[in-house]
Amino acid sequence: MSQERFIPFALPDVGADEAEAVASVVRSGWVTSGPEMKAFEDDFVGFLGGGVQSIALNSATAALHLALEAIGIGPGDEVIVPTWTFTATAEVVRHLGARPVIVDVDAETLNLSLDAVEAALSPATRAVVPVHFAGLPLDVASLRALLPGSVRIVEDAAHALPAVRDGETVGEARFSDAVAFSFYATKTVTTGEGGMLTTRDSEIAARAKVMRLHGIDRDAFDRYTSTKPAWAYDVVAAGFKYNMPDTAAAMGRVQLGKAELMRSRRESIAARYAAELEGLGLTLPEAAPAGVTHSWHLFVVRLSAEGIGRDAFVDGMNRYGVGTSVHFIPLHEHTYWRRYVADPAKTLPVACAEAPFAVSLPIYSSMSDDQVDHVCEAVRSVLS
Ligand SMILES: *Cc1c(COP(=O)(O)O)cnc(C)c1O
Repeated sequence: MSQERFIPFALPDVGADEAEAVASVVRSGWVTSGPEMKAFEDDFVGFLGGGVQSIALNSATAALHLALEAIGIGPGDEVIVPTWTFTATAEVVRHLGARPVIVDVDAETLNLSLDAVEAALSPATRAVVPVHFAGLPLDVASLRALLPGSVRIVEDAAHALPAVRDGETVGEARFSDAVAFSFYATKTVTTGEGGMLTTRDSEIAARAKVMRLHGIDRDAFDRYTSTKPAWAYDVVAAGFKYNMPDTAAAMGRVQLGKAELMRSRRESIAARYAAELEGLGLTLPEAAPAGVTHSWHLFVVRLSAEGIGRDAFVDGMNRYGVGTSVHFIPLHEHTYWRRYVADPAKTLPVACAEAPFAVSLPIYSSMSDDQVDHVCEAVRSVLS
């Protein structure tokens, strides 16, 4: 198949509107964090229906880091994370000198297993970071209910924009302390690179706002526009450089405006896959249960253990001109994280059993029906 007909695994759904929004920021002469960033934060709060504060950042990793920092995670603390995630979820725990406790996931959803969390609790547990894997929202209310009051929750919502469970839009933080979103190029809403932290806790919000820009008590735009002299600021902590520039924020505002439209297109693609890929020996992701809006960031199928194997499947799909990916190589299979799991076969049985068979098919709003059908044909051919 020729390169131009190749269906890549992921493509951002961006076009003239995003280009115009970024161009207008460039023409304005103010290109770093400023009015667009603030407007994006306000739009984001509006999107979630109010009740939270939002802090725009340059990645979800920054959002996770700042949330855990604001909560006061440090050496001697344990933070529970699922093994079925991207390394960012756990690396921020190490940045703060704390210990990640890597636990198993649910076999059906691949979301954090609440039983595994319960079993992993210790007197040193300070926080849990659940991941809404693939965009299927985890039941945070039930997680909250099983944790001691002193244990905090920071949601990794890198896949879950937009997603709803039992009337709560992910990001509202009704049962958690903070929520981290990603606007990386492959995510459901993109700014190229970017992230957002949402919280109802004004102390977390205030701390994150100071820490995102060097621990300075005034942001750059405030210094520029305020009547106080621009050179007058105070450093109150050793902060980070995590602010989102206006160029990215302008793109994010356009993307957020079509987030639900893009989601519903992905939902149709998921429905088409579910119908077309039945009966091929694949384990397909479950449809969203009642009361749940799935963001469908990923469509992860699991190959049968008796079949051709993942490497052959991925090669075969490539030959048919379809890009695939793997979400995820679980943390405990990586050199660095292995040291935090004493006996994976015993403590992470589900992840160990499922990891060799998981493959992600392309699912993005700019895919045409023909492309979706071509992916299905390719799967059928490769598996036959
Ligand atoms: C992409 C991703 C992140 C990191 O997002 P960035 O914006 O690139 O920092 C964190 N967690 C999960 C589960 C992700 O998929």
